Amino acid sequence: MSKALIVGGGIGGLATAIAFDRRGWEVEILEKATKITAVGAGLSLWPNAIRALDALGLGDEVRARAIEDGSAGIRDSRGTWLSRTDAEAVRARYGSPIMTHRADLLDILRGAVPESALRTGISVREVRADGTVTHSQGTSAGDVIVGADGIHSVVRRAVCGVVDPRYSGYTAWRMVVTPTEPLGELAESWGRGERFGYAALADGRVYCFATANVPVGTSSTGLPELRRRFGTWHDPIPSLLAAADESAVLHNDIYELPPLRTYVSGRIALLGDAAHAMTPNLGQGACQALEDAVVLARVAAEDSDLTRYDAERRPRTRMIAARSNRIGAVAQLDSPLAVRLRDTVMRLIPSSAQFKALAPVLDWKG
Ligand SMILES: Cc1cc2nc3c(=O)[nH]c(=O)nc-3n(C[C@H](O)[C@H](O)[C@H](O)COP(=O)(O)OP(=O)(O)OC[C@H]3O[C@@H](n4cnc5c(N)ncnc54)[C@H](O)[C@@H]3O)c2cc1C
Repeated sequence: MSKALIVGGGIGGLATAIAFDRRGWEVEILEKATKITAVGAGLSLWPNAIRALDALGLGDEVRARAIEDGSAGIRDSRGTWLSRTDAEAVRARYGSPIMTHRADLLDILRGAVPESALRTGISVREVRADGTVTHSQGTSAGDVIVGADGIHSVVRRAVCGVVDPRYSGYTAWRMVVTPTEPLGELAESWGRGERFGYAALADGRVYCFATANVPVGTSSTGLPELRRRFGTWHDPIPSLLAAADESAVLHNDIYELPPLRTYVSGRIALLGDAAHAMTPNLGQGACQALEDAVVLARVAAEDSDLTRYDAERRPRTRMIAARSNRIGAVAQLDSPLAVRLRDTVMRLIPSSAQFKALAPVLDWKG
């Protein structure tokens, strides 16, 4: 029996283990954390990701613990709509996007991995060109070695040398809030160099996220800063911030990887953020990791040469990362003139054009 050795037990690593296991491979996951845990935040999963989850046999289980996205769109800080998405049309053409809690997705993925496959508390130090993996408890080997170890991947060094992530220019906050009133819509509001978004979760809580242009490494006071920045924005933002709990606020600078020259070297392959960490503006990072997992297991089962995985995945993920980066550049504009112009243009773009532009991202069939 062939064996896949997977470094990293995040969304990408767990999905990869499931994909290989379903094809009759032995799988082993080396995860440095002592427990698989998720940060307290929501996660949007687009129809392309749902098709990947269906391919893993988990689509129904994830849908059952998620909520279908309803009406969605982008507003300005006063609440005026700049663009709206016709949720019905998206659903009919592409399938339903859903919003889930990260912990729910990880729980479902973890439950589908064979019990004996997951080895936690093991930190990988190096992957040699011959595929030997050295780690905190010795060495391991596999017929295919998968680097699913995130943006600061150790495995990546064996595939394409040292590649440093780059700072996007903005920082992000995330939190899950119990609102005082139920919320139906999903909206993101754009100001000057700042954004605030919110989306309902299946259990009635609301996932909120915010961004702001700041120099890299700028510390944040958390909730007080969010209230100062966004407390006068349109409803329901002030009431969500009033209901928020300081201890629930996560704060991270946003980094992305420059395009890699390859995702594969011999029997070693990179996936998820280790291969293509992207800005979160399209909500596609984890979606792409799920697609990667399905494609890698298929290619590895059909062919001893993994370059087909690279050929299938690198152009697509590069296109999506580049789009996400461009959206971020527009969304984070901060000069008053540029923001006025942006908002005017946004109001003029017909929603049919925005709708069609989603096709290359959402039409993935596996
Ligand atoms: C603010 C924000 C919002 C986002 N929103 C969305 C969204 O709505 N939808 C979406 O699709 N994506 C979203 N993303 C992106 C998404 O979170 C990531 O793309 C996804 O989690 C990547 O999964 P991964 O498994 O590749 O990497 P990770 O989640 O980083 O997992 C890597 C794993 O490898 C382990 N590891 C690392 N190094 C080692 C080592 N040396 N040895 C052993 N184990 C190791 C880590 O402990 C970790 O468990 C968002 C990202 C951010 C920052």
